Amino acid sequence: MIVEMRRGASREEIDAVAERAKSLGLDVQMNLGTDKTVVAILGSNTGKLQTDIFGVLPGVESVTRIMKPYKLASREFHNADAVVKVNGVEIGGKRITVMAGPCAVESESQLSKSAEIVKAAGAKILRGGAFKPRTSPFSFQGLKKEGLELLRRVHREYGMPVISEVTDTQEVQEMSEYCDILQVGSRNMQNFVLLSAVGRAGCPVVLKRGFSCTVTEWLTAADYILAEGNNQVILCERGIRTFEDSTRFSLDISSIPVIKRASYLPLIVDPSHAAGHYALVPALAKAAIAAGADGLLIEVHPNPKEALVDGLQSLTPSDFGRLMRELKPIAEAVGRTI
Ligand code: PEP
Ligand code: MN
Repeated sequence: MIVEMRRGASREEIDAVAERAKSLGLDVQMNLGTDKTVVAILGSNTGKLQTDIFGVLPGVESVTRIMKPYKLASREFHNADAVVKVNGVEIGGKRITVMAGPCAVESESQLSKSAEIVKAAGAKILRGGAFKPRTSPFSFQGLKKEGLELLRRVHREYGMPVISEVTDTQEVQEMSEYCDILQVGSRNMQNFVLLSAVGRAGCPVVLKRGFSCTVTEWLTAADYILAEGNNQVILCERGIRTFEDSTRFSLDISSIPVIKRASYLPLIVDPSHAAGHYALVPALAKAAIAAGADGLLIEVHPNPKEALVDGLQSLTPSDFGRLMRELKPIAEAVGRTI
């Protein structure tokens, strides 16, 4: 249930709503605006309550039932577009933010070359997987701790915030010390224990869409992170599984305007894992920006032929540079900068 307070409602009136909800065993999330305060009342049995229980309290403007399963990620809870700030880089503002780098951290020279290339081309955040959840247990699983140390070193050298995937609740704490953004991968989008753990870690999180999950399931997964009081959530569309097999996954371009209507959270797009092939990545990246995405997550490798993971979908340094130049007029056409 969403309780909208009257403009100028007093702190006592707001607190009285929260106290009433708590006395009924319900959870409360406050959104204290300068102008207007909204109180979200959460709990499995809110559906059985009469809205009048809150409607009669002083200072209450309206009480709305939330029929959608997601609550905290909804525009009904918070309307203004959120901007997530990571070491001075904003995700969700007017400027398009590009995160780029190799699929996996392979060595110091590979990572620092990647940082140099993507930074020179205009990317603001460096990506690189240290823990790689692979489809087969016999594939390269990442450099793990050594990979994290390389990320930290290269972060210092190039002054670029880094993003890396977390796969295990036990790694969350340590990874949040090494990385500026934690990535929850597609295969873990509904790993609810992991979502709560990254919520408690309190650092920015990129939540990738599960490739067999609906937009509603995705936003409900975001609620797990938000419910821990961590509002630094960035959504990432990365393609879904369909009957089409000419691409690795089908990039769901429609999810961009759908999410933008439903949620205030920043949304980026990963064209690399959707395409599965370097030749298709630029077109998908441009389409994503044209459709309203706030940023991109792109795999770039100094030498894709030598990549240990996802070489086929990784852009070469020159292809990435060209794409960044080509994105500029598209961003400007939709009122953004890059
Ligand atoms: C990745 O970003 O390297 C990755 C494994 O992505 P996804 O979880 O979207 O497959
Ligand atoms: Mn990859």
